[in-house]
Amino acid sequence: MEQCACVERELDKVLYRFVMYGHLSEESLDELLRYVSEVRRHLASSGLKDGDLTGIVYSSMSQCCKNIKESLQRLASSHKDIHGSVSKVGKAIDRNFDAEISAVVADNVWELQERQKYLSETIVEHLYRQGMLNVAEDLCKESGVAIDISMKQPFLELNRILEALKMRDLHPALEWAITNRQRLLDHNSTLEFRLHRLYFISLLSGGMKNQAEALQYARHFQPFATQHQRDIQILMGSLVYLRIGIENSPYRHLLENTNWSDICTIFTRDACALLGLSVESPLSVSFSSGCMALPVLMNIRQVIEQRQCTGVWSHKDELPIEIDLGKKCWYHSVFSCPILRQQTTETNPPMKLICGHVISRDALNKLINTGKLKCPYCPMEQNPSDAKQIFF
Ligand SMILES: [Zn+2]
Repeated sequence: MEQCACVERELDKVLYRFVMYGHLSEESLDELLRYVSEVRRHLASSGLKDGDLTGIVYSSMSQCCKNIKESLQRLASSHKDIHGSVSKVGKAIDRNFDAEISAVVADNVWELQERQKYLSETIVEHLYRQGMLNVAEDLCKESGVAIDISMKQPFLELNRILEALKMRDLHPALEWAITNRQRLLDHNSTLEFRLHRLYFISLLSGGMKNQAEALQYARHFQPFATQHQRDIQILMGSLVYLRIGIENSPYRHLLENTNWSDICTIFTRDACALLGLSVESPLSVSFSSGCMALPVLMNIRQVIEQRQCTGVWSHKDELPIEIDLGKKCWYHSVFSCPILRQQTTETNPPMKLICGHVISRDALNKLINTGKLKCPYCPMEQNPSDAKQIFF
């Protein structure tokens, strides 16, 4: 972070100089314009004809040209001064950020055409997620990446609904939730109820004039009566205070603004789950992990080189450090073998025995005795080949 702050300081200096230069040039040009108009007015009032530039007129004209020239030179030289600060930013970047990462990255990572295609697709997908559709289209056109329309469609819909939610328009989201009601319920999602609840609250905030409509709308809660009984009771209870305004009642917490940001988060999470998409963009997750891992990896590499203990870390596709991006980025369940007390890997995967106990394949192989396996836990005797590999 210190490196970023350092570059930012240099950038601030450039920005400050730019602003100051803007003021200076505006002031000088205004002054110059005033001066030129003055000279012009003076010439016009003295009733001179064309080609009659003699004496005092001639000297005031040449003074005018001299002034213009001087002002422009002054502006040009202060503009030149900014160049120095701009180049300092470049130097600060070079000094603080090591662009040479080949020591920690496999050289042939992007050699395969297929991988380059994946990268381009991931970037395009990220842009779709962010709602930057035009940028994504341009990138596709320029890079020649062909994106299937079926990949684009869900993002278009997601963005349209999210945009509406941000403008506090619940209709598109409600429509979507009602269409996908069963699938949402299968995912244990409370999205539809929360949308109805928010719609009801927005009616409440309108005061007495919405009373009849709010009562009418309450029938939407009926399918959720058993699961959200308490919430519905609170909503109905608040109706009593409609006359004095919900904001003056014990129910004022219903009007909190966080309801709206929460509903956006819940909608994104549940809609992504339904569409089989990850909530976080794969590109931003990779980027964040890269930002965390690279400095550490480069330090490790440096230490290894300094101490001349090469061979400790030779495989560049192996990650010798842990990257923690928080709980929301835990994608895979991890299984540790209870026998070997080791995390399972692709070469030593978890195996389920027919009794239901799970151990790693290496442990299983070690436990085989004369072609039979005795479960170390229950202890059921079984055929080792009956064990099935488990995929998390
Ligand atoms: Zn067992």
